[in-house]
Amino acid sequence: MAEHESLEYGKADFVLLDNVSMEEFMANLKLRFEKGRIYSYIGEVVVSVNPYRAMNIYGRDTIEQYKGRELYERPPHLFAIADAAYKAMKRRSKDTCIVISGESGAGKTEASKYIMQYIAAITNPNQRAEVERVKNMLLKSNCVLEAFGNAKTNRNDNSSRFGKYMDINFDFKGDPIGGHINNYLLEKSRVIFQQEGERSFHSFYQVDLADFKAVADAMKVIGFTGDEIQTVYKIVATILHLGNLTFGVDGDVTLIENSKLVSVIKDLLSTKEENVQKALLYRTVATGRDIIEKQHTEQEASYGRDALAKAMYERLFCWIVGRINDIIEVKNYNANVHGKNTVIGVLDIYGFEIFQNNSFEQFCINYCNEKLQQLFIQLVLKQEQEEYQREGIPWKHIDYFNNQIIVDLVEQQHKGIFSVLDEACMNVGKVTDEVFLQGLNGKLAKHAHYTSRKLSPTDKSLEFDRDFRIKHYAGDVVYSVVGFIDKNKDTLFQDFKRLLYNSSNPVLKGMWPEGKLSITEVTKRPLTAATLFKNSMISLVENLACKEPYYVRCIKPNDVKSPLLFEQERCRHQVEYLGLLENVRVRRAGFAYRQTYPRFLQRYKMISEFTWPNHDLASDKAAVKSLLQVCGFDHDVAYGKTKVFIRTPRTLFCLEEQRAEM
Ligand code: ATP
Ligand code: MG
Repeated sequence: MAEHESLEYGKADFVLLDNVSMEEFMANLKLRFEKGRIYSYIGEVVVSVNPYRAMNIYGRDTIEQYKGRELYERPPHLFAIADAAYKAMKRRSKDTCIVISGESGAGKTEASKYIMQYIAAITNPNQRAEVERVKNMLLKSNCVLEAFGNAKTNRNDNSSRFGKYMDINFDFKGDPIGGHINNYLLEKSRVIFQQEGERSFHSFYQVDLADFKAVADAMKVIGFTGDEIQTVYKIVATILHLGNLTFGVDGDVTLIENSKLVSVIKDLLSTKEENVQKALLYRTVATGRDIIEKQHTEQEASYGRDALAKAMYERLFCWIVGRINDIIEVKNYNANVHGKNTVIGVLDIYGFEIFQNNSFEQFCINYCNEKLQQLFIQLVLKQEQEEYQREGIPWKHIDYFNNQIIVDLVEQQHKGIFSVLDEACMNVGKVTDEVFLQGLNGKLAKHAHYTSRKLSPTDKSLEFDRDFRIKHYAGDVVYSVVGFIDKNKDTLFQDFKRLLYNSSNPVLKGMWPEGKLSITEVTKRPLTAATLFKNSMISLVENLACKEPYYVRCIKPNDVKSPLLFEQERCRHQVEYLGLLENVRVRRAGFAYRQTYPRFLQRYKMISEFTWPNHDLASDKAAVKSLLQVCGFDHDVAYGKTKVFIRTPRTLFCLEEQRAEM
């Protein structure tokens, strides 16, 4: 590892810092960035700083340098952990996952693409046509997902507005044979509103021929039919037209002002003009046994129109993901014939967000980060400590903040914030954001990580009555309750669902199966947005927890996309909330490498005459001890009950070299 790079580039592994302090950490990070070393390690965690310039480190020759190598043999690189994950998967049949985190613009999506490219490049040496086809589809799916799920924001010109987890399935030869994508919480409000300087999703602007063709071609390659691709763009066009639709009143009648648009929309949706009109202006309600049509107010009609646009886009996006999954998922896979089917998962998900104004979306995203931090703690810190205990190795206790308390604050049944929110939404009486806030204040008044303006009236950071504050592991965030109820209920009038279901376009109809129900049949309340999100996070974490995890922590060096600027304060803040210093501490207290005695001997016994070809000592443990004493590494190791633990990677590196010289 560090041995391969001269010290003028700083320490390649933060574990090797002389002192673990924020100052030294930052100095090393800055030095490496300025020397063009954008990757570093903390043990097996990759720390990446966005270079904001094209780097000549992803080509075929670099891939060859990392292929099949051990982590410590080459300078830090994404390819090294992609290879480590791949090796774990192939050699030890382990399911692995690579969790990529960091704030918007830090380089998560680029990293996930390099990792996928690396895996694609090192697999399928025999050029099997079927595997090539799968690889091509997996890579092309990125292009489609980015067109529909990414947008230009003030932070990132190509910002992912959804979370993505992608499994790649491998056969017993280690070649990709399929995949599966899960998507999380698309920021659908973007289709009706964008901050100044921002845009809606890329798909809405891909009217110039080249971009349109690239995406349409990618869809074709993946296996979308012509009808499907056409329908996708009809829906995008419909949403654009809905954006121009306005309502007015004439006496007590609500009407559509630009009714020509309705005629365009009905063509796009393959339905009747009067149906579109009715769905936009009326709502069918069941009162007892009667079914009546209630006219919308102008305000209700506008609300309905926006809800329709958002829902159509979200449904379209989920449908696209679902179609990709239909096509790329492993089919007819007979485990008995082919052996084990293993998986590498790649998670590219929104990092912690603290904006000027934080709402329901930021709350969900930050909760997601609490969940991932909890998983990290459980997997890395806790398991590490427990292993030392099991092995009887003295362990210096490390104090780290366990954020389970915040996870509970959000997701606990009955008492958690999501439960209080759902309860407020089901209120028979008044359903307002204020009622929700009262609920929170009532239930959480004594919680150490919750406060609000009402509970802390003199607190300057709580400026408005609508504010509440959560003490996240990454820092304090003030949320405004405004919009929580509405976003959580996420109502789309049943009339719209019926309208779309009754389209004579079968692709569109297929996206809206629940439109089949008549008004009297609709009894079940749909799950709220918070509950859906919570459930999807819980299952994501369960899924990750049973895999061997690898981490990439991305850092954004500045807010102006400059390849030269390392903004100290901005970076320090990220290092803090990514928990990197804590990570180094645990790693240093711990050991870089561990192996069972027999396996260690198997690999290194040729180094010593006492162990080669076989030893006559009382145990494998004794043999390993004698081997390491002979080599002079005794001071850097600890001997556990079943495993030998090596503190610094340098020792392992020397062992590898001696082995190679034999
Ligand atoms: P978001 O959360 O908004 O989706 P992100 O973390 O996924 O952000 P990326 O889209 O991966 O961020 O990166 C933002 C931009 O930074 C890229 O479009 C690219 O210009 C630049 N960038 C990121 N990583 C690299 C890299 N390794 N080499 C060169 N440029 C990069
Ligand atoms: Mg992204």
